Amino acid sequence: MGNSSRTLSMYDVPLWESINAGSMRLQCCSNCGLFRYPPAPVCAACLAEEVEWRELSGRGTILSWVVFHRRYFDDHPVPYNAIAVQLEEGPIMVSNLVGPVPDTDWIGRAVRMVYERVTDGMLPRFELASVVESPPLPAATPINLRK
Ligand SMILES: [Zn+2]
Repeated sequence: MGNSSRTLSMYDVPLWESINAGSMRLQCCSNCGLFRYPPAPVCAACLAEEVEWRELSGRGTILSWVVFHRRYFDDHPVPYNAIAVQLEEGPIMVSNLVGPVPDTDWIGRAVRMVYERVTDGMLPRFELASVVESPPLPAATPINLRK
């Protein structure tokens, strides 16, 4: 066994720079508006080479999930989950769900991207949007037990 490692192509560097800055950006076709993931030299829809890097909203929906119980890498202790997220911008991204996980019904849950520091930079992961967007609980009211 060993640790996992990243393999970067020449098109991946701006992607990882944006992730390390805490605002993930993807290539967006200047001709047709299709977001590219992973980064690529041409648009899969119209073959245009022109591109701009656009920041993602961070919002998405869980399409699929799994919990791994077999250890493949030393730096990935089990159990851990993997999720496929349909980003609001279109691409499907594989990541992990952090924080509270649903007891049932993972699929279709709204998620929000968060950035977590790892040994060699940051990783984009997701947490349930309902966890983020829940209003704070009201302050506890003292109970007088001496009545
Ligand atoms: Zn295009």
